[in-house]
Amino acid sequence: MKKFFQAPPRLGNQYDDDRVLRSFLRRNIVGPVLAEIEPGLRRLGARAAGEMIGLALEAERASPALVQFDAWGRRIDEIRVSPAWQAMHRIAAEEGIVATAYERRHAEARVHQFALLYLYHPSSAIYSCPLAMTDGAARVLEIEGEQDLRREIVPHLISRDPDTMWTAGQWMTERSGGSDVSGTETVARREGGMFRLYGEKWFTSATTSELALTLARIEDSRDLSLFLVRLRDEQGRMNSIRIERLKDKLGTRALPTAELLLEGTPARLIGGEGRGVKKIATMLNITRLYNACCAVGFMRRGLALARDYASRRHAFGKLLSEQPLHIETLASLQVGFEGSFHLVFFAAQLLGRDEVGTATVQERRILRLLTPLAKLFTAKMAVSAASEVLECLGGAGYVEDTGLPVLLRDSQVLPIWEGTTNVLSLDVLRVLQGEKVLEDLFAELGARLENIPAILAKARQNLLAALDQIRLQLSQLLAGDRAQMEACARDLAMELSRVVAGVLVIEHAAWSLASEGDMRPVVSAQRWCGTGLIAPSGALISRSKSWLRYSHSIAIDDNLSRVQESFA
Ligand SMILES: Cc1cc2nc3c(=O)[nH]c(=O)nc-3n(C[C@H](O)[C@H](O)[C@H](O)COP(=O)(O)OP(=O)(O)OC[C@H]3O[C@@H](n4cnc5c(N)ncnc54)[C@H](O)[C@@H]3O)c2cc1C
Repeated sequence: MKKFFQAPPRLGNQYDDDRVLRSFLRRNIVGPVLAEIEPGLRRLGARAAGEMIGLALEAERASPALVQFDAWGRRIDEIRVSPAWQAMHRIAAEEGIVATAYERRHAEARVHQFALLYLYHPSSAIYSCPLAMTDGAARVLEIEGEQDLRREIVPHLISRDPDTMWTAGQWMTERSGGSDVSGTETVARREGGMFRLYGEKWFTSATTSELALTLARIEDSRDLSLFLVRLRDEQGRMNSIRIERLKDKLGTRALPTAELLLEGTPARLIGGEGRGVKKIATMLNITRLYNACCAVGFMRRGLALARDYASRRHAFGKLLSEQPLHIETLASLQVGFEGSFHLVFFAAQLLGRDEVGTATVQERRILRLLTPLAKLFTAKMAVSAASEVLECLGGAGYVEDTGLPVLLRDSQVLPIWEGTTNVLSLDVLRVLQGEKVLEDLFAELGARLENIPAILAKARQNLLAALDQIRLQLSQLLAGDRAQMEACARDLAMELSRVVAGVLVIEHAAWSLASEGDMRPVVSAQRWCGTGLIAPSGALISRSKSWLRYSHSIAIDDNLSRVQESFA
Protein backbone atom coordinates (compact mmCIF):
# COMPACT_ATOMS: atom_id res chain seq x y z
CA MET A 1 0.00 0.00 0.00
CA LYS A 2 1.23 3.46 -0.86
CA LYS A 3 2.22 5.35 2.25
CA PHE A 4 0.90 8.84 2.88
CA PHE A 5 3.29 11.77 3.16
CA GLN A 6 1.98 15.25 3.81
CA ALA A 7 3.10 17.96 1.42
CA PRO A 8 4.70 20.77 3.45
CA PRO A 9 3.53 24.39 3.18
CA ARG A 10 5.28 26.38 0.47
CA LEU A 11 5.97 30.04 0.08
CA GLY A 12 5.70 31.92 -3.19
CA ASN A 13 7.34 35.24 -3.95
CA GLN A 14 6.62 37.17 -0.76
CA TYR A 15 6.11 40.43 -2.62
CA ASP A 16 4.00 39.14 -5.50
CA ASP A 17 1.77 37.13 -3.17
CA ASP A 18 1.10 40.01 -0.78
CA ARG A 19 -2.14 41.63 -1.83
CA VAL A 20 -2.23 43.96 1.17
CA LEU A 21 1.29 45.33 0.77
CA ARG A 22 0.93 45.78 -2.97
CA SER A 23 -2.38 47.56 -2.69
CA PHE A 24 -1.01 49.89 0.00
CA LEU A 25 1.99 50.75 -2.15
CA ARG A 26 -0.18 51.35 -5.21
CA ARG A 27 -2.21 53.84 -3.21
CA ASN A 28 0.66 55.63 -1.54
CA ILE A 29 3.57 55.64 -3.97
CA VAL A 30 3.18 57.39 -7.28
CA GLY A 31 3.16 55.13 -10.32
CA PRO A 32 6.54 55.92 -11.89
CA VAL A 33 8.32 55.61 -8.52
CA LEU A 34 6.56 52.33 -7.77
CA ALA A 35 7.56 51.00 -11.17
CA GLU A 36 11.14 51.91 -10.36
CA ILE A 37 11.27 50.28 -6.92
CA GLU A 38 9.16 47.19 -7.67
CA PRO A 39 11.99 45.08 -9.12
CA GLY A 40 13.88 45.46 -5.81
CA LEU A 41 10.83 44.49 -3.79
CA ARG A 42 10.19 41.52 -6.04
CA ARG A 43 13.82 40.40 -5.83
CA LEU A 44 13.70 40.52 -2.05
CA GLY A 45 10.32 38.76 -2.10
CA ALA A 46 12.00 35.91 -3.98
CA ARG A 47 15.04 35.81 -1.69
CA ALA A 48 12.81 35.81 1.40
CA ALA A 49 11.00 32.73 0.13
CA GLY A 50 14.18 31.13 -1.24
CA GLU A 51 17.80 31.28 -0.10
CA MET A 52 17.01 33.21 3.11
CA ILE A 53 14.77 30.45 4.51
CA GLY A 54 17.65 27.97 4.59
CA LEU A 55 20.05 30.59 5.90
CA ALA A 56 17.66 31.53 8.71
CA LEU A 57 17.28 27.91 9.80
CA GLU A 58 21.04 27.43 9.71
CA ALA A 59 21.68 30.63 11.68
CA GLU A 60 19.13 29.51 14.27
CA ARG A 61 20.74 26.08 14.64
CA ALA A 62 24.33 27.36 14.73
CA SER A 63 23.81 29.86 17.55
CA PRO A 64 26.63 32.28 18.34
CA ALA A 65 29.39 31.10 20.66
CA LEU A 66 31.53 33.15 23.03
CA VAL A 67 35.23 32.37 23.06
CA GLN A 68 36.67 34.18 26.05
CA PHE A 69 40.32 32.99 25.92
CA ASP A 70 42.80 32.00 23.25
CA ALA A 71 44.86 28.85 23.47
CA TRP A 72 47.47 30.67 25.62
CA GLY A 73 45.03 32.01 28.15
CA ARG A 74 44.82 35.54 26.79
CA ARG A 75 41.41 37.12 27.12
CA ILE A 76 39.95 37.61 23.62
CA ASP A 77 36.18 37.78 24.15
CA GLU A 78 35.24 36.86 20.62
CA ILE A 79 31.70 36.09 19.58
CA ARG A 80 31.71 33.58 16.75
CA VAL A 81 28.66 33.68 14.53
CA SER A 82 27.65 31.35 11.73
CA PRO A 83 28.28 32.07 8.04
CA ALA A 84 24.48 32.10 7.69
CA TRP A 85 24.20 35.00 10.13
CA GLN A 86 26.94 36.83 8.22
CA ALA A 87 24.99 36.22 5.02
CA MET A 88 22.04 38.06 6.57
CA HIS A 89 24.30 41.09 6.94
CA ARG A 90 25.29 40.87 3.31
CA ILE A 91 21.71 40.59 2.11
CA ALA A 92 20.61 43.50 4.32
CA ALA A 93 23.30 45.74 2.84
CA GLU A 94 22.68 44.64 -0.74
CA GLU A 95 18.95 45.17 -0.45
CA GLY A 96 19.41 48.54 1.23
CA ILE A 97 17.25 47.73 4.25
CA VAL A 98 18.70 50.67 6.21
CA ALA A 99 20.13 52.67 3.30
CA THR A 100 16.80 53.19 1.53
CA ALA A 101 15.51 55.42 4.34
CA TYR A 102 18.54 57.71 4.20
CA GLU A 103 19.02 57.95 0.46
CA ARG A 104 15.59 59.64 0.38
CA ARG A 105 15.29 59.17 -3.34
CA HIS A 106 11.56 59.81 -3.31
CA ALA A 107 8.84 61.20 -1.05
CA GLU A 108 7.91 57.84 0.51
CA ALA A 109 11.40 56.55 1.28
CA ARG A 110 10.41 55.35 4.77
CA VAL A 111 7.37 53.49 3.42
CA HIS A 112 9.60 51.91 0.79
CA GLN A 113 12.15 50.95 3.44
CA PHE A 114 9.46 49.51 5.72
CA ALA A 115 8.19 47.42 2.82
CA LEU A 116 11.70 46.02 2.39
CA LEU A 117 12.11 45.40 6.11
CA TYR A 118 8.70 43.70 6.27
CA LEU A 119 9.76 41.31 3.50
CA TYR A 120 13.26 40.77 4.90
CA HIS A 121 12.53 40.31 8.61
CA PRO A 122 10.57 37.01 8.75
CA SER A 123 13.40 35.24 6.89
CA SER A 124 16.28 37.03 8.62
CA ALA A 125 16.73 35.04 11.86
CA ILE A 126 16.21 38.45 13.58
CA TYR A 127 19.08 40.21 11.82
CA SER A 128 16.38 42.89 11.73
CA CYS A 129 17.34 43.64 15.35
CA PRO A 130 20.87 44.92 14.62
CA LEU A 131 19.43 46.76 11.62
CA ALA A 132 16.86 48.52 13.80
CA MET A 133 19.55 49.79 16.13
CA THR A 134 21.79 50.73 13.20
CA ASP A 135 19.00 52.80 11.70
CA GLY A 136 18.26 54.37 15.08
CA ALA A 137 21.92 55.23 15.61
CA ALA A 138 22.16 56.79 12.15
CA ARG A 139 19.18 59.00 12.95
CA VAL A 140 20.57 60.04 16.34
CA LEU A 141 23.90 60.94 14.75
CA GLU A 142 22.15 62.81 11.95
CA ILE A 143 20.43 64.95 14.56
CA GLU A 144 22.88 65.09 17.47
CA GLY A 145 26.24 64.03 16.05
CA GLU A 146 29.09 66.42 15.43
CA GLN A 147 30.26 66.88 11.88
CA ASP A 148 33.10 64.35 12.02
CA LEU A 149 30.71 61.65 13.25
CA ARG A 150 28.23 62.44 10.54
CA ARG A 151 31.02 62.32 8.00
CA GLU A 152 32.92 59.28 9.26
CA ILE A 153 30.33 57.05 10.88
CA VAL A 154 26.92 57.64 9.35
CA PRO A 155 28.02 56.58 5.82
CA HIS A 156 29.04 53.18 7.24
CA LEU A 157 25.68 52.72 8.97
CA ILE A 158 23.71 53.44 5.81
CA SER A 159 26.02 51.73 3.34
CA ARG A 160 24.85 49.29 0.66
CA ASP A 161 28.26 47.65 0.55
CA PRO A 162 28.34 44.60 2.87
CA ASP A 163 32.08 45.10 3.46
CA THR A 164 31.79 48.70 4.58
CA MET A 165 28.39 48.56 6.27
CA TRP A 166 28.55 48.71 10.06
CA THR A 167 25.88 47.88 12.55
CA ALA A 168 25.21 49.53 15.91
CA GLY A 169 23.92 48.39 19.28
CA GLN A 170 21.85 50.17 21.89
CA TRP A 171 22.91 49.49 25.46
CA MET A 172 20.37 50.76 27.91
CA THR A 173 19.38 47.88 30.14
CA GLU A 174 21.32 47.26 33.34
CA ARG A 175 20.58 44.83 36.14
CA SER A 176 18.65 47.56 37.94
CA GLY A 177 16.21 47.95 35.05
CA GLY A 178 15.42 48.10 31.37
CA SER A 179 12.13 49.96 31.53
CA ASP A 180 13.35 52.31 34.20
CA VAL A 181 16.93 53.33 33.43
CA SER A 182 17.10 55.86 36.25
CA GLY A 183 19.06 53.29 38.29
CA THR A 184 21.84 53.18 35.67
CA GLU A 185 25.12 52.51 37.48
CA THR A 186 27.52 53.04 34.57
CA VAL A 187 29.76 55.99 35.26
CA ALA A 188 31.60 58.17 32.73
CA ARG A 189 34.92 59.51 33.98
CA ARG A 190 36.98 62.20 32.35
CA GLU A 191 40.45 60.73 31.85
CA GLY A 192 43.18 62.27 29.70
CA GLY A 193 40.85 64.57 27.82
CA MET A 194 38.30 61.85 27.04
CA PHE A 195 35.49 59.95 28.70
CA ARG A 196 35.87 56.37 29.85
CA LEU A 197 32.94 54.23 30.91
CA TYR A 198 32.85 51.93 33.93
CA GLY A 199 29.88 49.69 34.54
CA GLU A 200 27.87 46.71 33.39
CA LYS A 201 25.31 46.34 30.67
CA TRP A 202 22.91 43.48 31.27
CA PHE A 203 21.34 42.95 27.82
CA THR A 204 23.25 43.96 24.71
CA SER A 205 22.07 42.49 21.45
CA ALA A 206 24.12 42.73 18.31
CA THR A 207 27.28 42.59 20.37
CA THR A 208 29.24 41.92 17.20
CA SER A 209 28.41 45.44 16.01
CA GLU A 210 31.11 48.00 15.38
CA LEU A 211 29.60 50.59 17.70
CA ALA A 212 26.89 51.24 20.24
CA LEU A 213 25.00 54.12 21.76
CA THR A 214 24.73 53.87 25.50
CA LEU A 215 23.76 55.74 28.64
CA ALA A 216 26.06 56.64 31.51
CA ARG A 217 26.17 59.15 34.34
CA ILE A 218 29.05 61.59 34.16
CA GLU A 219 30.75 61.62 37.57
CA ASP A 220 29.11 64.04 39.98
CA SER A 221 26.18 64.54 37.63
CA ARG A 222 22.62 63.43 38.41
CA ASP A 223 21.47 63.25 34.83
CA LEU A 224 22.25 60.50 32.31
CA SER A 225 24.20 61.37 29.18
CA LEU A 226 24.39 59.68 25.79
CA PHE A 227 27.68 58.17 24.60
CA LEU A 228 28.97 56.50 21.49
CA VAL A 229 31.27 53.53 22.01
CA ARG A 230 33.47 51.82 19.42
CA LEU A 231 33.61 48.16 20.46
CA ARG A 232 37.02 47.36 19.02
CA ASP A 233 40.29 49.19 18.56
CA GLU A 234 42.30 49.46 15.34
CA GLN A 235 43.78 45.97 15.92
CA GLY A 236 40.34 44.43 16.38
CA ARG A 237 40.74 43.99 20.16
CA MET A 238 37.85 44.76 22.48
CA ASN A 239 38.05 48.37 23.69
CA SER A 240 38.29 47.64 27.42
CA ILE A 241 35.06 45.67 27.24
CA ARG A 242 34.65 42.20 28.69
CA ILE A 243 31.94 39.91 27.44
CA GLU A 244 30.79 38.11 30.57
CA ARG A 245 28.47 35.65 28.87
CA LEU A 246 25.88 35.20 26.14
CA LYS A 247 22.25 34.94 27.19
CA ASP A 248 20.53 31.58 26.79
CA LYS A 249 17.22 32.72 25.32
CA LEU A 250 13.77 31.33 24.50
CA GLY A 251 14.09 32.69 20.95
CA THR A 252 16.16 35.07 18.83
CA ARG A 253 18.79 32.36 19.08
CA ALA A 254 20.90 33.44 16.13
CA LEU A 255 21.21 36.91 17.62
CA PRO A 256 24.08 37.30 20.07
CA THR A 257 22.82 38.97 23.25
CA ALA A 258 25.53 39.48 25.83
CA GLU A 259 26.26 40.79 29.29
CA LEU A 260 29.10 43.28 29.16
CA LEU A 261 31.55 44.71 31.61
CA LEU A 262 32.86 48.16 30.71
CA GLU A 263 36.30 48.60 32.21
CA GLY A 264 37.30 52.08 31.15
CA THR A 265 35.83 51.90 27.65
CA PRO A 266 36.65 55.04 25.63
CA ALA A 267 33.41 56.85 24.79
CA ARG A 268 32.36 59.93 22.89
CA LEU A 269 29.73 62.21 24.41
CA ILE A 270 26.83 62.79 21.99
CA GLY A 271 24.92 66.06 21.96
CA GLY A 272 26.48 67.52 25.09
CA GLU A 273 26.05 66.60 28.74
CA GLY A 274 22.73 65.41 30.15
CA ARG A 275 19.32 64.66 28.64
CA GLY A 276 20.63 61.26 27.58
CA VAL A 277 17.27 59.54 27.83
CA LYS A 278 15.65 62.18 25.65
CA LYS A 279 18.38 61.86 23.04
CA ILE A 280 18.28 58.08 22.89
CA ALA A 281 14.49 58.35 22.49
CA THR A 282 15.15 59.24 18.83
CA MET A 283 16.73 55.82 18.45
CA LEU A 284 13.93 54.16 20.39
CA ASN A 285 11.28 55.71 18.15
CA ILE A 286 12.93 54.03 15.18
CA THR A 287 13.51 50.69 16.89
CA ARG A 288 9.91 50.64 18.13
CA LEU A 289 8.54 51.13 14.65
CA TYR A 290 10.93 48.46 13.36
CA ASN A 291 9.50 46.19 16.03
CA ALA A 292 5.98 46.94 14.83
CA CYS A 293 6.96 46.34 11.21
CA CYS A 294 8.60 43.03 12.15
CA ALA A 295 5.44 42.06 14.03
CA VAL A 296 3.29 42.50 10.92
CA GLY A 297 5.98 40.76 8.85
CA PHE A 298 5.69 37.73 11.12
CA MET A 299 1.89 37.85 11.01
CA ARG A 300 1.92 37.89 7.24
CA ARG A 301 4.45 35.03 7.09
CA GLY A 302 2.36 32.91 9.44
CA LEU A 303 -0.71 33.53 7.35
CA ALA A 304 1.09 32.66 4.11
CA LEU A 305 2.16 29.33 5.59
CA ALA A 306 -1.20 28.53 7.17
CA ARG A 307 -3.10 29.45 4.04
CA ASP A 308 -0.89 27.37 1.80
CA TYR A 309 -1.07 24.43 4.18
CA ALA A 310 -4.86 24.64 4.22
CA SER A 311 -4.82 24.02 0.48
CA ARG A 312 -2.68 20.86 0.92
CA ARG A 313 -3.96 19.22 4.08
CA HIS A 314 -7.06 17.02 4.14
CA ALA A 315 -9.15 16.22 7.21
CA PHE A 316 -12.55 14.57 7.39
CA GLY A 317 -12.69 14.11 3.62
CA LYS A 318 -12.04 17.71 2.65
CA LEU A 319 -9.21 20.14 2.36
CA LEU A 320 -8.80 22.40 5.39
CA SER A 321 -9.41 25.28 3.02
CA GLU A 322 -12.94 23.91 2.54
CA GLN A 323 -13.75 23.50 6.24
CA PRO A 324 -15.97 26.40 7.38
CA LEU A 325 -14.45 26.72 10.82
CA HIS A 326 -10.89 26.59 9.55
CA ILE A 327 -11.80 29.24 6.97
CA GLU A 328 -13.11 31.44 9.81
CA THR A 329 -9.86 30.95 11.71
CA LEU A 330 -7.79 32.04 8.74
CA ALA A 331 -10.14 34.95 8.03
CA SER A 332 -9.76 36.24 11.62
CA LEU A 333 -5.99 36.05 11.26
CA GLN A 334 -6.21 38.01 8.02
CA VAL A 335 -8.42 40.71 9.56
CA GLY A 336 -6.05 41.09 12.53
CA PHE A 337 -3.10 41.28 10.18
CA GLU A 338 -4.67 43.93 7.92
CA GLY A 339 -5.55 46.25 10.80
CA SER A 340 -2.06 45.90 12.24
CA PHE A 341 -0.45 46.41 8.84
CA HIS A 342 -2.23 49.70 8.22
CA LEU A 343 -1.37 51.00 11.68
CA VAL A 344 2.34 50.35 11.10
CA PHE A 345 2.55 51.68 7.58
CA PHE A 346 0.67 54.84 8.50
CA ALA A 347 3.24 55.41 11.24
CA ALA A 348 6.05 54.80 8.73
CA GLN A 349 4.53 57.38 6.43
CA LEU A 350 4.44 59.98 9.21
CA LEU A 351 7.98 59.13 10.27
CA GLY A 352 9.19 59.70 6.72
CA ARG A 353 7.44 63.06 6.52
CA ASP A 354 8.85 64.08 9.88
CA GLU A 355 12.38 63.25 8.77
CA VAL A 356 12.26 65.31 5.61
CA GLY A 357 10.46 68.20 7.32
CA THR A 358 7.16 67.94 5.46
CA ALA A 359 5.07 66.73 8.44
CA THR A 360 2.66 69.24 9.92
CA VAL A 361 2.78 70.01 13.64
CA GLN A 362 -0.35 67.86 14.03
CA GLU A 363 1.23 64.96 12.16
CA ARG A 364 4.30 65.13 14.39
CA ARG A 365 2.10 64.96 17.47
CA ILE A 366 0.15 62.03 16.04
CA LEU A 367 3.41 60.22 15.24
CA ARG A 368 4.52 60.64 18.83
CA LEU A 369 1.32 58.90 19.94
CA LEU A 370 1.27 56.33 17.18
CA THR A 371 4.79 55.05 17.81
CA PRO A 372 4.11 53.43 21.21
CA LEU A 373 0.59 52.45 20.11
CA ALA A 374 1.77 50.65 16.98
CA LYS A 375 4.56 48.90 18.89
CA LEU A 376 2.50 47.68 21.81
CA PHE A 377 -0.55 46.67 19.79
CA THR A 378 1.16 44.79 16.96
CA ALA A 379 3.55 42.97 19.29
CA LYS A 380 0.66 41.42 21.20
CA MET A 381 -1.21 40.68 17.96
CA ALA A 382 1.88 38.94 16.56
CA VAL A 383 2.25 36.62 19.54
CA SER A 384 -1.36 35.50 19.45
CA ALA A 385 -1.27 35.17 15.64
CA ALA A 386 1.88 33.03 15.80
CA SER A 387 0.25 30.76 18.36
CA GLU A 388 -2.83 30.39 16.13
CA VAL A 389 -0.70 29.70 13.06
CA LEU A 390 1.12 26.87 14.81
CA GLU A 391 -2.26 25.38 15.71
CA CYS A 392 -3.40 25.75 12.08
CA LEU A 393 -0.63 23.34 11.16
CA GLY A 394 -1.63 20.91 13.87
CA GLY A 395 1.17 18.79 15.38
CA ALA A 396 3.54 19.84 12.59
CA GLY A 397 3.37 23.40 13.90
CA TYR A 398 4.96 22.26 17.15
CA VAL A 399 7.82 20.33 15.60
CA GLU A 400 11.16 22.07 15.34
CA ASP A 401 12.36 20.89 11.96
CA THR A 402 9.30 22.28 10.19
CA GLY A 403 10.79 25.67 11.05
CA LEU A 404 7.49 26.82 12.56
CA PRO A 405 8.07 26.93 16.35
CA VAL A 406 10.66 29.65 15.79
CA LEU A 407 7.86 31.92 14.65
CA LEU A 408 6.25 31.76 18.08
CA ARG A 409 9.51 31.92 20.02
CA ASP A 410 10.75 34.91 18.09
CA SER A 411 7.41 36.71 18.22
CA GLN A 412 7.45 36.48 22.01
CA VAL A 413 10.31 38.94 22.26
CA LEU A 414 8.36 41.64 20.44
CA PRO A 415 6.28 42.76 23.45
CA ILE A 416 9.31 42.68 25.76
CA TRP A 417 12.15 44.62 24.22
CA GLU A 418 11.94 48.25 23.03
CA GLY A 419 9.43 48.94 25.80
CA THR A 420 7.04 46.44 27.34
CA THR A 421 3.29 46.69 26.77
CA ASN A 422 2.65 48.31 30.14
CA VAL A 423 5.52 50.73 29.92
CA LEU A 424 4.40 51.86 26.47
CA SER A 425 0.79 52.12 27.64
CA LEU A 426 1.93 54.52 30.33
CA ASP A 427 3.85 56.41 27.67
CA VAL A 428 0.63 56.68 25.64
CA LEU A 429 -1.07 58.11 28.70
CA ARG A 430 1.72 60.66 29.05
CA VAL A 431 1.36 61.70 25.43
CA LEU A 432 -2.41 61.98 25.73
CA GLN A 433 -2.00 64.38 28.60
CA GLY A 434 0.09 66.61 26.36
CA GLU A 435 -1.10 69.57 24.47
CA LYS A 436 -3.78 69.05 21.81
CA VAL A 437 -2.76 65.51 20.89
CA LEU A 438 -6.27 64.18 21.20
CA GLU A 439 -7.81 67.00 19.25
CA ASP A 440 -5.27 66.47 16.48
CA LEU A 441 -5.86 62.75 16.42
CA PHE A 442 -9.64 63.00 16.35
CA ALA A 443 -9.52 65.68 13.65
CA GLU A 444 -7.23 63.49 11.55
CA LEU A 445 -9.37 60.38 12.03
CA GLY A 446 -12.60 62.28 11.39
CA ALA A 447 -11.23 63.67 8.12
CA ARG A 448 -10.28 60.17 7.00
CA LEU A 449 -13.83 58.96 7.56
CA GLU A 450 -15.34 61.38 5.09
CA ASN A 451 -16.43 60.12 1.67
CA ILE A 452 -16.82 56.51 2.75
CA PRO A 453 -19.13 54.46 0.45
CA ALA A 454 -22.47 53.14 1.66
CA ILE A 455 -21.18 49.60 1.87
CA LEU A 456 -18.94 50.72 4.73
CA ALA A 457 -21.52 52.97 6.39
CA LYS A 458 -22.18 50.60 9.30
CA ALA A 459 -18.47 50.12 9.94
CA ARG A 460 -17.99 53.89 9.85
CA GLN A 461 -20.88 54.39 12.25
CA ASN A 462 -19.38 51.88 14.70
CA LEU A 463 -16.07 53.64 14.51
CA LEU A 464 -17.54 57.07 15.09
CA ALA A 465 -19.43 55.72 18.11
CA ALA A 466 -16.21 54.13 19.41
CA LEU A 467 -14.35 57.38 18.90
CA ASP A 468 -16.98 59.27 20.91
CA GLN A 469 -16.80 56.70 23.64
CA ILE A 470 -13.03 56.84 23.85
CA ARG A 471 -13.15 60.62 23.94
CA LEU A 472 -15.58 60.47 26.86
CA GLN A 473 -13.61 57.80 28.72
CA LEU A 474 -10.41 59.71 28.25
CA SER A 475 -11.75 63.01 29.49
CA GLN A 476 -13.07 61.29 32.61
CA LEU A 477 -9.92 59.27 33.15
CA LEU A 478 -7.50 62.12 32.62
CA ALA A 479 -9.38 64.17 35.18
CA GLY A 480 -9.30 61.31 37.68
CA ASP A 481 -7.04 59.58 40.12
CA ARG A 482 -3.49 58.64 39.00
CA ALA A 483 -3.71 54.99 40.12
CA GLN A 484 -6.99 54.53 38.29
CA MET A 485 -5.53 56.14 35.20
CA GLU A 486 -2.52 53.83 35.22
CA ALA A 487 -4.64 50.75 35.85
CA CYS A 488 -6.66 51.54 32.73
CA ALA A 489 -3.72 52.56 30.53
CA ARG A 490 -3.23 49.26 28.72
CA ASP A 491 -6.90 48.74 27.86
CA LEU A 492 -7.13 52.32 26.75
CA ALA A 493 -4.05 51.99 24.52
CA MET A 494 -5.42 48.80 22.99
CA GLU A 495 -8.80 50.42 22.31
CA LEU A 496 -7.21 53.45 20.80
CA SER A 497 -5.03 51.26 18.56
CA ARG A 498 -8.06 49.29 17.40
CA VAL A 499 -9.95 52.45 16.57
CA VAL A 500 -7.06 54.16 14.75
CA ALA A 501 -6.41 50.98 12.78
CA GLY A 502 -10.15 50.76 12.07
CA VAL A 503 -10.15 54.20 10.49
CA LEU A 504 -7.16 53.28 8.36
CA VAL A 505 -8.62 49.98 7.14
CA ILE A 506 -11.92 51.63 6.25
CA GLU A 507 -10.17 54.37 4.36
CA HIS A 508 -8.03 51.91 2.47
CA ALA A 509 -10.99 49.64 1.75
CA ALA A 510 -12.91 52.58 0.25
CA TRP A 511 -9.94 53.39 -1.97
CA SER A 512 -9.37 49.80 -2.98
CA LEU A 513 -13.02 49.29 -3.90
CA ALA A 514 -13.06 52.44 -6.03
CA SER A 515 -9.63 52.07 -7.60
CA GLU A 516 -9.00 48.34 -7.77
CA GLY A 517 -12.56 46.99 -7.65
CA ASP A 518 -11.44 44.75 -4.78
CA MET A 519 -14.08 43.79 -2.22
CA ARG A 520 -11.70 41.91 0.09
CA PRO A 521 -10.45 44.96 2.03
CA VAL A 522 -14.12 45.94 2.49
CA VAL A 523 -14.86 42.58 4.10
CA SER A 524 -11.86 42.95 6.40
CA ALA A 525 -12.82 46.51 7.30
CA GLN A 526 -16.40 45.46 8.09
CA ARG A 527 -15.12 42.75 10.39
CA TRP A 528 -12.45 44.88 12.07
CA CYS A 529 -15.03 47.58 12.76
CA GLY A 530 -17.75 45.18 13.84
CA THR A 531 -19.19 45.02 17.29
CA GLY A 532 -16.84 44.54 20.22
CA LEU A 533 -14.36 47.01 18.77
CA ILE A 534 -13.98 48.58 22.19
CA ALA A 535 -15.30 47.85 25.67
CA PRO A 536 -18.85 48.91 26.52
CA SER A 537 -19.24 52.49 27.62
CA GLY A 538 -17.94 53.17 31.10
CA ALA A 539 -16.11 49.82 31.45
CA LEU A 540 -12.77 51.50 31.97
CA ILE A 541 -13.79 54.33 34.22
CA SER A 542 -15.76 51.98 36.45
CA ARG A 543 -12.39 50.95 37.85
CA SER A 544 -12.88 52.81 41.04
CA LYS A 545 -10.65 52.74 44.08
CA SER A 546 -12.45 49.70 45.44
CA TRP A 547 -11.92 47.92 42.08
CA LEU A 548 -8.19 48.56 42.43
CA ARG A 549 -8.19 47.26 45.98
CA TYR A 550 -9.83 44.02 44.84
CA SER A 551 -7.35 43.77 41.93
CA HIS A 552 -4.53 44.10 44.40
CA SER A 553 -5.88 41.35 46.61
CA ILE A 554 -6.20 38.84 43.77
CA ALA A 555 -3.05 39.92 41.86
CA ILE A 556 -0.79 39.71 44.87
CA ASP A 557 -2.97 37.05 46.47
CA ASP A 558 -3.02 38.92 49.70
CA ASN A 559 -5.66 39.00 52.34
CA LEU A 560 -8.26 41.61 51.39
CA SER A 561 -8.44 43.20 54.84
CA ARG A 562 -4.65 43.74 54.85
CA VAL A 563 -4.81 45.22 51.37
CA GLN A 564 -7.60 47.53 52.47
CA GLU A 565 -5.48 48.70 55.35
CA SER A 566 -2.54 49.46 53.03
CA PHE A 567 -4.81 51.45 50.73
CA ALA A 568 -6.47 53.33 53.56
C1 LIG B 1 16.35 38.99 23.56
C2 LIG B 1 16.51 40.29 24.25
C3 LIG B 1 17.43 41.20 23.77
C4 LIG B 1 17.60 42.42 24.38
N1 LIG B 1 18.51 43.31 23.87
C5 LIG B 1 18.69 44.49 24.48
C6 LIG B 1 19.64 45.43 24.00
O1 LIG B 1 20.28 45.22 22.97
N2 LIG B 1 19.81 46.59 24.66
C7 LIG B 1 19.11 46.89 25.77
O2 LIG B 1 19.29 47.96 26.33
N3 LIG B 1 18.20 46.02 26.27
C8 LIG B 1 17.97 44.84 25.65
N4 LIG B 1 17.05 43.95 26.14
C9 LIG B 1 16.40 44.25 27.40
C10 LIG B 1 14.97 44.71 27.26
O3 LIG B 1 14.92 45.96 26.60
C11 LIG B 1 14.40 44.79 28.68
O4 LIG B 1 14.32 43.46 29.15
C12 LIG B 1 13.05 45.45 28.71
O5 LIG B 1 13.18 46.82 28.44
C13 LIG B 1 12.37 45.28 30.09
O6 LIG B 1 13.22 45.66 31.12
P1 LIG B 1 13.46 44.69 32.37
O7 LIG B 1 13.91 43.38 31.84
O8 LIG B 1 14.35 45.39 33.32
O9 LIG B 1 12.05 44.48 33.00
P2 LIG B 1 11.35 45.46 34.09
O10 LIG B 1 11.53 46.86 33.66
O11 LIG B 1 11.77 45.05 35.43
O12 LIG B 1 9.81 45.06 33.87
C14 LIG B 1 9.22 43.86 34.44
C15 LIG B 1 7.71 43.95 34.25
O13 LIG B 1 7.21 45.06 34.95
C16 LIG B 1 6.37 45.84 34.13
N5 LIG B 1 6.48 47.23 34.54
C17 LIG B 1 7.59 47.95 34.72
N6 LIG B 1 7.28 49.20 35.13
C18 LIG B 1 5.94 49.26 35.20
C19 LIG B 1 5.00 50.27 35.57
N7 LIG B 1 5.38 51.48 35.94
N8 LIG B 1 3.67 49.97 35.54
C20 LIG B 1 3.25 48.75 35.14
N9 LIG B 1 4.09 47.76 34.79
C21 LIG B 1 5.42 48.00 34.82
C22 LIG B 1 6.88 45.61 32.72
O14 LIG B 1 5.85 45.86 31.78
C23 LIG B 1 7.28 44.15 32.79
O15 LIG B 1 6.16 43.35 32.52
C24 LIG B 1 16.84 42.74 25.53
C25 LIG B 1 15.91 41.82 26.01
C26 LIG B 1 15.74 40.61 25.38
C27 LIG B 1 14.72 39.65 25.92
